[in-house]
Amino acid sequence: MAQLIYHSTRGDDLAVTAAEAILSGIAADGGLYVPAEIPLLTTPLHELAQLDYQQLAVSVLRLFLTDFTEEELREAVAAAYNNRFDTAEIAPVVEHGGVRYLELFHGPTLAFKDMALALLPYLMKLAARKTGLDKEVVILTATSGDTGKAALEAFAGVEGTRIIVFFPEQGVSPVQKQQMVTQAGNNTFVIGIEGNFDDAQSGVKQLFTDRKLLDAMAGKDLVFSSANSINIGRLIPQVVYYWHAYLRVMADGGVQAGEPLDFAVPTGNFGNILAGYYAKMMGLPVGTLICASNENRVLSDFFASGVYNKEREFYLTSSPSMDILVSSNLERLLWQICGKSSAQVTDLMQQLASLGRYQISEAMKRNLTDFVGGHATEEETSQAIRQVHETAGYLLDPHTAVAYNVWEKYRQKTGSKTPAVVVSTASPYKFTKDVMQALNPQYADGEDFALFAEMEKITAVPVPAVVRGLASRPVLHKRVCKKAEMQLVVESILGL
Ligand SMILES: *Cc1c(COP(=O)(O)O)cnc(C)c1O
Repeated sequence: MAQLIYHSTRGDDLAVTAAEAILSGIAADGGLYVPAEIPLLTTPLHELAQLDYQQLAVSVLRLFLTDFTEEELREAVAAAYNNRFDTAEIAPVVEHGGVRYLELFHGPTLAFKDMALALLPYLMKLAARKTGLDKEVVILTATSGDTGKAALEAFAGVEGTRIIVFFPEQGVSPVQKQQMVTQAGNNTFVIGIEGNFDDAQSGVKQLFTDRKLLDAMAGKDLVFSSANSINIGRLIPQVVYYWHAYLRVMADGGVQAGEPLDFAVPTGNFGNILAGYYAKMMGLPVGTLICASNENRVLSDFFASGVYNKEREFYLTSSPSMDILVSSNLERLLWQICGKSSAQVTDLMQQLASLGRYQISEAMKRNLTDFVGGHATEEETSQAIRQVHETAGYLLDPHTAVAYNVWEKYRQKTGSKTPAVVVSTASPYKFTKDVMQALNPQYADGEDFALFAEMEKITAVPVPAVVRGLASRPVLHKRVCKKAEMQLVVESILGL
């Protein structure tokens, strides 16, 4: 197979292998790595339908990671998608009340981030071997709540790595926070920041390209990498479950092979839905990708108007993993829809940095027809949770509820009858209080952990083992800092 190379969205002169792209996380020019071409998966759908999740993953990954052998990928996939997931299906498609959901929360931290992060350490280890890297890899991560724990879980105790996670101290759910601050492992570091996710993410991005810091690290045989979806190694494993979902829906007669299937995706950093777009470009018959935002509706406004404007009020919502105003992975979409012009992308990103906004050209807008955007208010989100529970006996987490509501409104508005899958990104147990309160206001005074038992009663889904007893685990990480202090904190952790 010909070698697939990766470019930076901001400069064509950077051309690296998949292994190099995964190890560096972000390109030196501040751009994101993108595959020069999206490979086609030409195996007939009815043949792919015979594969289990792990086999399908290898079939997809080998096309993107051409410098990895099939044997290596098979081993990595087997180590990632095993009984750490609570179902052998890994990513089941379930149907409740006539609606299909792709459940991506069966991994060790109960959110969809596990789908990629369970695999990433194995890909990194292989990549380090291939490139002859003999340095310690420092995984520097900003999180809106779920990436942090999934990355900690994945990298804790992994030889040759250290992981540093910054999370918005006031911007994550109590369960998310407790999951992170109780993380064991002497290579793990968790720090709250006084600010929101965008502060954490922009702070981290700055450190990644700070020449002086990088030089000081090099002197100690340390290099940065990223576990955020700016890392292409996060994105590619996510492509797999779009194929898997389609094949499952096809197997139970929901679509005929080749017919379009829509996906409604709760979106923040645009990584999940971008993987759906990649799947479509690979040849999967994806219909419309419905990009669902919460009240931080910067993306739904973008899809409606072609203007991206981050200068707006920031809201803390019940779907904190989507409380984001700068969606990193949109940069990769811009690169695709402008004819892969790194000059144009650089220009737009400069406008975003200096003016807080940019407008795409009419030609680019015409290439956005695979997507529609929409948003759900907090009231609509809790209504969706209540309604689906009452009518179908199924409990949505707030992120999934946002997608459900936006999809409902899309169908009402357009009359679309296209079969669809609502992508379900987290277990309701991560957001106990908001979910219970949506069902009944009497729970407004409850406390997240105390409500586990109530939730168990009404869902008949037992409290997941990974959060049982979480409330009483010792807090091991207590550090909080300001955005301006992030560099100092990192330097002290690394002994620079
Ligand atoms: C991260 C996350 C999202 C948003 O996904 P992006 O890839 O950032 O768009 C949605 N729901 C949950 C539960 C998440 O953890």
